[in-house]
Amino acid sequence: MSAIGILSEHIANQIAAGEVVERPVAVVKELVENSLDAGATQIEIAFRNGGKSYIRVEDNGCGMSLEDARLALERHATSKILEAEDLQHITTFGFRGEALPSIASVARFTLRTRTIEQEAGTERVVNGGKFIHQRACGMPVGTVIEVTDLFYSVPARREFLKTDNTESAHIIYLSRLLAIAHPQTAFRLWEDDRLLFNSPICSRLRERVEEIWGQTLTAELIELEAVGEAGLRLYGLIGKPGFSRSTRQGLITFVNRRPVESRTLSYALIEAYHTLIPKGRHPVAFLFLEIDPEAIDVNVHPAKREVRFQEESLVRQYVIETVIQKLQDQLARTRERTAVSRTPRSLASPTDTALPKPAKVPSPPSTSLSPGIRYSEIPDRSLAVADQSSSDTVKPSLPWRLIGRLYGRYALFETEAGLVCFHLRAAHERIWFERIQRSFLQARVASQTLLLPLPLELEPLGSAVLQKHLPFFTQSGFGIGIFGRHFFRIEAIPSWLAPEKSESFLRDAIQLLREQRIRPEQYALAYEPIARLAATRSLRIDDLISDSAIVDLAKQLMGCDYPLSCPRGHPTYFELSRSDLDKRFGR
Ligand code: ADP
Ligand code: MG
Repeated sequence: MSAIGILSEHIANQIAAGEVVERPVAVVKELVENSLDAGATQIEIAFRNGGKSYIRVEDNGCGMSLEDARLALERHATSKILEAEDLQHITTFGFRGEALPSIASVARFTLRTRTIEQEAGTERVVNGGKFIHQRACGMPVGTVIEVTDLFYSVPARREFLKTDNTESAHIIYLSRLLAIAHPQTAFRLWEDDRLLFNSPICSRLRERVEEIWGQTLTAELIELEAVGEAGLRLYGLIGKPGFSRSTRQGLITFVNRRPVESRTLSYALIEAYHTLIPKGRHPVAFLFLEIDPEAIDVNVHPAKREVRFQEESLVRQYVIETVIQKLQDQLARTRERTAVSRTPRSLASPTDTALPKPAKVPSPPSTSLSPGIRYSEIPDRSLAVADQSSSDTVKPSLPWRLIGRLYGRYALFETEAGLVCFHLRAAHERIWFERIQRSFLQARVASQTLLLPLPLELEPLGSAVLQKHLPFFTQSGFGIGIFGRHFFRIEAIPSWLAPEKSESFLRDAIQLLREQRIRPEQYALAYEPIARLAATRSLRIDDLISDSAIVDLAKQLMGCDYPLSCPRGHPTYFELSRSDLDKRFGR
């Protein structure tokens, strides 16, 4: 064995880089966290090739002085802690003074920064850890960091990277989380030359979530805000009772505004919801826990993705109780409102639903089960959805046995738990709505060329709108030719659209654009109204639909993010429990 030597600064940085910047998304995270630490109110993130070839983070934070710009790239140089003592009270995102030098050691790194006191900014360039130059540059107050050719100096690390698409998905997801955690900072995200989102400063979390996750989802969330003992605080948006997803991806948790994966938090949520959503499905939440930094260890994971609580069970209990309390309040309010709006006695037949301890909540009246009353007559449909889903009668477990059809519109199933009445068209629309929305979001809209192009004549305003947004329609799977000022030809349409519906669909979409209810520049928002519109224009299910197709429909519905209602908010099915049936016969 040879004698002990001290690693060169350069090698030490590269080793640290292996931990801190395992992949492009980690670079983005470190840079954005620095921007937040610097008090930025505007942050712009841009990347190319999944971040492999290019990442840029620009902020309007405090910037760095000439000397700090030099120091920032030294190992263990941080402005955030001075003494070991400080480690106990970390309130900033960074504190190790490791990120910048690590990144600069494995990429081409350009830092441009300016403080308010300085006349000119400072530019410092480092390539693969090697200092290239530092000089004055013109720029506004703040910091821009560009990282190009990540891992070019360590090819072995490049091998571990996934495809551009995968790396890009990680960056987009993280950016969304960071934006959610900081509504008071404006965020913009660019991939190549495409603006993925552009969210101005939002006064409330709900606005930010709506900007980024869309209206459909946000409409299903309720606000939670609670202060507990010992500096605990819980807030955020959580799904209404009954709202659920088929995966756990909608469970998003933050601790002291850091996006984290915490079993403690996600299990607490699952437990709080467990009687309120169908079995095998998952709650949705954007949940923020604030806790004394001394009571957690954020150092478990080098990239700080996981946190550990010193008092796991205390935190768990607090979260469960607070969330259950909120859900109970919500159900109680729903009950009050239903009591007022639905006086028919036949509708008020509460059954008891046990919530996890310590809560015990009677479920709201089961809806529209009395003969002669149909859902269409219930005044508040969204309520009806929350209601029925919150009663323990709704645990859709397929296989359901198809009994038959009713009035051509409904299908009846016998299930383990009771009788399910299923609205075929509503289910069909829900399935298509989610399918179409997904294809938009993945920018993968299949198109069909029309054998006979359809002429379309628009009045001047409509025609101007269509011309202006032509790229949007092209992206959405349309092929539209322009023939004269107000004459167009529909040459191709998205494959989900029935050709005979394409003209009315386009007219409606143009109207939505005119009313600015569709904003193509806001990627996520733009497609919701389109998808909703599309679902109602999708290929019709005909009365001759086969039994097996009906069963299939039910299965597909259960795979939807929100199986309980159609895109317009009408219920897709309801269930009459066996015990309800028995009760009706006095058994
Ligand atoms: P840490 O964040 O752990 O302190 P970094 O290597 O990420 O370490 O950053 C080193 C230092 O550079 C920070 O402590 C901060 O003083 C400065 N810095 C980094 N990014 C910015 C920025 N965007 N604006 C202002 N200062 C920054
Ligand atoms: Mg940092």
